[in-house]
Amino acid sequence: MAGIDPKFGEALKNYGAINFNACYNCGTCTAVCSLSTPENSFPREMVRLSVLGMEEELTASLKPWLCYYCGECTTYCPQTAHPGELMMSLRRWLTSKYDWTGLSGLLYRSLPLSIIAFVLVAIGVISFAVSQQFNQETIMHYGHYFEMIAIGTVFLVVLLPNIIRMWYFVIQKPGKKISLMTYLKTSGELFVHMFTQKRSLGCDDNKFRWFEHLVLVFGYLMLLFTTVFLDWFGSENLFIIVLGYIESALIFIITVDFVYSRIQKKREVSKNSQPSDWFFVIWLLLMGLTALLVRLFIDLNIIQSNLWMYLVHLTVLAQWALIIVPFGKWTHFLFRSFAMYFEALLAKAR
Ligand code: SF4
Ligand code: SF4
Repeated sequence: MAGIDPKFGEALKNYGAINFNACYNCGTCTAVCSLSTPENSFPREMVRLSVLGMEEELTASLKPWLCYYCGECTTYCPQTAHPGELMMSLRRWLTSKYDWTGLSGLLYRSLPLSIIAFVLVAIGVISFAVSQQFNQETIMHYGHYFEMIAIGTVFLVVLLPNIIRMWYFVIQKPGKKISLMTYLKTSGELFVHMFTQKRSLGCDDNKFRWFEHLVLVFGYLMLLFTTVFLDWFGSENLFIIVLGYIESALIFIITVDFVYSRIQKKREVSKNSQPSDWFFVIWLLLMGLTALLVRLFIDLNIIQSNLWMYLVHLTVLAQWALIIVPFGKWTHFLFRSFAMYFEALLAKAR
C-alpha cells in the first residue's frame, strides 16, 4: 500500500505551496482547468495527494508539468487553496527529487544558502581575475572557454543524470513497457515542445505572453550559439556582431517586461514569486544587458580600460551556468519538455 506522510504538507510549504490543506475536494479547479483531460485530470488529484503526503505517487506523476500556470483554478477555488501555486510548488519539489546532488532542494528551501552560492561564484570569478593580474586578453580568452566547458560539464554531470532519474521515476519504476521504436518515433515531441511550448496556448488567454516566451527561448539559444560557437566578443564579422546585439537586446527587453509583471502582480502566475523565480528573470535580464554592454565597450574600444564590465558579465554568466541552469528554475524548461515527451510515450503505451 502506498505510504502516507502527514508531514509532507509542511515540507511542501518550503517550496512555495500556500493553504492547500484548506481544500475540501469540490473539484471546481479541475472543472475550470482547460488543460485537464479525463486521462490526465488535475489539479484536484494533485492537491489530494499532497494533503495525504503520497510522495511515491507524486514522484511518478507528470501532471505538475502538464500545468502551465494560467491560474484559472486558483481564481475559482472557493477555499482559496491556491491549487495553481501548489502545482508550481510540486514542480519545484519534483526538480529536487530528480536532482541526484540534492543541491536543488537545498537552494529552493533556503534563501541564505542561495545567496552564499551566488557570492561564492562571484568570489571565484574575482580570484581568477586577480590570479591573471587583470589581463584583459587572457581573462576574455578563458571566459570564452569557460562557457563551453561549463555548458558541457553541467549537462553531463547534472542535467543528463537528472533526466534519467526522472525517466526512472515516471516510466521504469512504475513498470511501464515502451519499445525502443516508440521512443525513437515519438522523439519529435520533445523538440516540438521544447522550442514552441505549444501546449501553453491551450491554457494561457494571453497569446502575447506565449509569443514573448517563444522569442525568449529562441533569443537565449541563439545568443548562446553566437557567443560560444561564433565567438561574438572576438568576432569582426558585421553579421555576427549585429546578430548578437539583436539577440541580447531581445532578451533584455522581454525580461524587463517579465520583471515588471512580477512587480505588478496582476496575473496569478506573478502573484507569489519565490526567490528562484526572481533569480531566473533577473539573471536572464542581466545576461542580456551585460552581454550587450560588453560588446558595445569592445566596439567603442573602451573594454581594456573598463575590464570591470566584462568581469560583471562573467560573474553573471558563471552564476547562471553553475547555479540557475543546473539547480534553479531553468531546469523547469528541460523537465517540462521531457515530461511532454514521456507523456506522449505513456499515451502510446496506454
Ligand atoms: S477548487 Fe479548491 S477546494 Fe475545490 S478541489 Fe480544487 S483546490 Fe480543493
Ligand atoms: S494553473 Fe491553469 S493549467 Fe495549471 S492546474 Fe490551474 S487551471 Fe490548470
